[in-house]
Amino acid sequence: MSKSAKLAVLGSINADHILNLAHFPRPGETVIGKQYQIAFGGKGANQAVAAGRAGADIAFIACVGADDIGERIRQQLQQDRIDTAPVETVADEATGVAMIFVNGEGENNIGIYSGANAALTPACVDRHQQVIADADALLMQLESPLESVLAAAKIAKAQQTQVILNPAPATHLSDELLALIDVITPNETEAEILTGIAVKSDEDAARAAAALHSKGIQTVLITLGRRGVWLSEKGEGVRIPGFSVQAVDTIAAGDTFNGAFITARLEGVLMHDAVRFAHAAAAIAVTRPGAQPSVPWRTEIDAFLQ
Ligand code: ADP
Repeated sequence: MSKSAKLAVLGSINADHILNLAHFPRPGETVIGKQYQIAFGGKGANQAVAAGRAGADIAFIACVGADDIGERIRQQLQQDRIDTAPVETVADEATGVAMIFVNGEGENNIGIYSGANAALTPACVDRHQQVIADADALLMQLESPLESVLAAAKIAKAQQTQVILNPAPATHLSDELLALIDVITPNETEAEILTGIAVKSDEDAARAAAALHSKGIQTVLITLGRRGVWLSEKGEGVRIPGFSVQAVDTIAAGDTFNGAFITARLEGVLMHDAVRFAHAAAAIAVTRPGAQPSVPWRTEIDAFLQ
């Protein structure tokens, strides 16, 4: 494939409202916060940003609400080199939100409203089927309605667009959907939910990968945090260690890995080298706080790999 190979990402957009306070409010209690920030998140957006900054030619199929924050997010995505033409603005709906309380111990307490993300229905996917057909690969996660993920995978399959699924957050998936996936990238927890096999060692990872291959998936990449990934292609498995860095927080590590990995693959980079590229991007991300602010640009990834 050439450098101009196209990527479509389909997924969620959230505005994360993060309030740091000394302790969580009890029912009926009001607690004054110490610090407040709005961060842009959602797995779909995080992965799109990771791909955009890594250099992909990318279009993003998603929904925001008809509100100020939705417009700000759209503009930020454009600055991250993403074609936002397929990001729909949904009337009478709010942009997806996560309300996050962080207490003095660093624990969090999260409420989510999917808002406009729920409007990413199969009918919405249909409106953007040309984007999927024009792409060489379609990257999805599971923060969008499952029936829409299935509809998009069906369109991709019919158009010879490669389907890559990051099955997060963890949930059980139908055999029908799994059979449409070319590359799956669960972390250990997600691999366990999908296969029933607890992934504690390389041997477990190999067994979980075999279970996923048996559903018709050619390439299985189980991410193992600081231990790297288990890569299994048609049953041949190997662990590819990540880079050793001083981690600050691992928020968006998996999202950065996915966006960078598919970007490299679309440039024609061989599987092992694409994993190494994605490890580098994710390693940089874990050395920085937050989700999208931590995602590196291509020049930073290339410099890391020098
Ligand atoms: P998720 O964020 O989806 O749970 P993982 O924790 O498995 O995913 O991490 C995904 C990738 O991020 C890893 O394969 C690795 O490349 C990188 N990574 C995660 N944690 C670390 C770490 N502590 N040090 C270096 N790289 C890391």
